[in-house]
Amino acid sequence: MFRCDICGASAPPRTSCNIVPVKHKKVVFPFRKEANVFKSWQETEKKNDPGGEGVQIAKEIKVCPRKSCANRAKSMYDASIRDPEPAWLPRR
Ligand SMILES: [Zn+2]
Repeated sequence: MFRCDICGASAPPRTSCNIVPVKHKKVVFPFRKEANVFKSWQETEKKNDPGGEGVQIAKEIKVCPRKSCANRAKSMYDASIRDPEPAWLPRR
C-alpha cells in the first residue's frame, strides 16, 4: 500500500509500486593522490583514486500503475535525464 506522488491516490493493497527517478544531477569527484591503502603482512601499498564524473539520482517518486501516471512519470524522467542539474564538488 502506498500513495502515488503524481495523482495523490492511495493504491490498494498488493498493488505494485514503481519508483521512478525524476531528478538527476551531474557529479564530479576529484583525483585523490594515494587515497587507497592496501596493507599486507609486511608491506603497505598506496594507490591513487582517479576520480571521475557521472550522473546521480537526486529525487525519486512512487508511481501507481495507472496509464496517465505512468506516462507523466516517464516524461518527467526523460526531461531530467536529458539535462541533469550542474556538477558540484564534494567536501573533503
Ligand atoms: Zn497515480
